[in-house]
Amino acid sequence: MSEALPFTVLASDGPARRGRLTTAHGIIDTPAFMPVGTAATVKAMRPEEVAATGAQILLGNTYHLMLRPTAERIAELGGLHKFMNWPRAILTDSGGFQVMSLAKLRDISERGVSFRSHLDGTLYALSPERSIGIQHLLGANVTMVLDECTEFPVTPEAASASMERSMRWAERSKAAFLPRPGHGLFGIVQGSVFPVMRLKSVEALTRIGFDGYAVGGLAIGEGQETMFMVIDATVPALPADAPRYLMGVGKPSDLVGAVQRGIDMFDCVLPTRSGRTAQAFTRRGTVNLRNARHAADPRPLDPDCACPACKGFSRGYLHHLARSGEILASMLLTQHNLSYYQELMAGLRAAIERRGLDDFAAAFALQQAQGDLPAL
Ligand SMILES: [Zn+2]
Repeated sequence: MSEALPFTVLASDGPARRGRLTTAHGIIDTPAFMPVGTAATVKAMRPEEVAATGAQILLGNTYHLMLRPTAERIAELGGLHKFMNWPRAILTDSGGFQVMSLAKLRDISERGVSFRSHLDGTLYALSPERSIGIQHLLGANVTMVLDECTEFPVTPEAASASMERSMRWAERSKAAFLPRPGHGLFGIVQGSVFPVMRLKSVEALTRIGFDGYAVGGLAIGEGQETMFMVIDATVPALPADAPRYLMGVGKPSDLVGAVQRGIDMFDCVLPTRSGRTAQAFTRRGTVNLRNARHAADPRPLDPDCACPACKGFSRGYLHHLARSGEILASMLLTQHNLSYYQELMAGLRAAIERRGLDDFAAAFALQQAQGDLPAL
């Protein structure tokens, strides 16, 4: 077990685990969902509101922060926790994924990646060493290795070459990382949708040794069935005493299925981004508040939800806010979506503790399939 970032499995149910990760900024009960705070803010939410949903850890984006306001500026201002007034734990990504998806004129070589900022065209370089250095300046509790994001679909040959490069970068990332108590470094398993390559990647990473292991390169168009197949092929090979993080995932049903397969940590923009486009996640599936059928509806968005958006406001009001483009629509629906995600995780944790995860998952699927409340 990692001494710097201790992880304890408190209970298990099949491959699923109920665990606890201890960081310098508090404990994280797993399975855990990490809201995304891209630019040192979870959009439309105050930090105390994010904490009130139950989140114990946030994700910050290296790519965005290195461009603006820069990691050096954040370090001068006391580090990312102080900068954004979030006293709980923070995980930062390596920046690689956003370089691939947002930056212009990328050039990838063995040394690293150079790219032009999507903001002003300035030329930047990101290497494994630089990415680890930036995350150190930010003060991340969990630092991620820089990896190459393998495109999808991809040939086995290209996937293998990309995975092998990511493993060399993982080794350089480990060498650049400065160990300190309450802070850790996670490796990232690559290998696209090919189980043999995933296992080779796991072997390379466990030989290097990390405080936790992420499964990367999924939820990029392969579909849920294939994603679950890759998780099933990967998780049994990972060390049982280290946390497992499925990057960039996902929908509520993805979280339930991945927890059943032994994943401990998740991040996704879905609950926050959807909250800004009037899409709500509920126990009965997704609800679009812009839909005219909500206009005269006095009922709460989700009658079983205790969040402020559901306790204080009607569907008719949320519909009005969304249609009017009011800022409060984004605030309330983000708050609801994050509350729903955290409550789902709490339900999963309790189900693992009582060894009733399969029943929980079946009830979840049934309720989701029922669909939204019938119109009045
Ligand atoms: Zn709610």
